[in-house]
Amino acid sequence: MPEFDLIQRYFTRSAPGAILGVGDDAALVHISNGMELAVSTDMLVSGTHFFPDADPYMLGHKALAVNISDMAAMGAVPRWATLALSLPQEDGAWLERFSAGFFALADQHRVALIGGDTTRGPLNLCVTIMGEVPPGQALRRDGAQPGDEVWVSGKLGDAALVLAYLQGRLALDVGTLAATAAALHQPVPRVALGLALRGIAHSAIDVSDGLLGDLGHILERSGVAAEIQFAALPVSPSLQPYLAQALGRRCVLAGGDDYELCFTVPAQRHAEVEQISAQLDLPLTCIGRIAAGKGCTLRAVDGSVMKIKETGYDHFA
Ligand code: ADP
Ligand code: MG
Repeated sequence: MPEFDLIQRYFTRSAPGAILGVGDDAALVHISNGMELAVSTDMLVSGTHFFPDADPYMLGHKALAVNISDMAAMGAVPRWATLALSLPQEDGAWLERFSAGFFALADQHRVALIGGDTTRGPLNLCVTIMGEVPPGQALRRDGAQPGDEVWVSGKLGDAALVLAYLQGRLALDVGTLAATAAALHQPVPRVALGLALRGIAHSAIDVSDGLLGDLGHILERSGVAAEIQFAALPVSPSLQPYLAQALGRRCVLAGGDDYELCFTVPAQRHAEVEQISAQLDLPLTCIGRIAAGKGCTLRAVDGSVMKIKETGYDHFA
């Protein structure tokens, strides 16, 4: 199938949010009056971010989800996406499933696919996402202040637990696998939370490379320190039994692929965060405090300082 027909067949949909979508040399969009444009790119590489034989529907979902998650972390409304694809061969069944997974999530968030590029090569998925945020209201990494509480959404570590299982590093029973697999394959970007935190959170980041590493980015950019209570970290009943092992603790602290939001809020606004949690029906957990200084201190239940070896996933470390 010629490249143009492939694009036409699998990646061309009406794009009501755009003036001009797929098919021309560039797409045209109109940014809502007075809004700032938020732009972010995330690439998924076969063998690094997913197994080469991964379910294409889930890959389509995930390639977009990790990008929408970046909009959530900025407090932006995701609006448009482009998709650069490198494919080893033309596989109609694969493309059908991949695009179905991609568009299912795109429709859910009313994100329009407005362009991209398609080439032959090692399997590689690169999405650029664009969204809108009112001037000055973006949730940045550099706004944390001493006295803020540190919060995190959802549960941490399930995705890393499943990955450890798939890599043969631990055994999981069928029930546990069923309960946790979606965390790795179908992460839910926390867009509504990001929007609700505008004007409330001083800083935010999405947890893609592990809590400690990502929180570390907030601390560094904001020039502050944090004290985190290990016992407060939200983990699923599936992961709970593994906390006695170093591998389980590493999943929670440095697992990666969680796509939850970690954010800081002035302590006097604690109740507002609890209200947001109830409104969104999404668990939000206060896990510690921002303080003056540098670095992150992790406290065990007995108050002793826990040593942290693994702080996150770094492709170049
Ligand atoms: P050009 O030669 O100008 O780069 P292409 O032939 O690469 O154009 O692409 C034709 C049109 O299809 C463009 O509008 C481009 O944005 C779009 N497109 C290409 N690949 C994809 C894709 N994987 N998903 C969505 N749109 C795509
Ligand atoms: Mg091109």
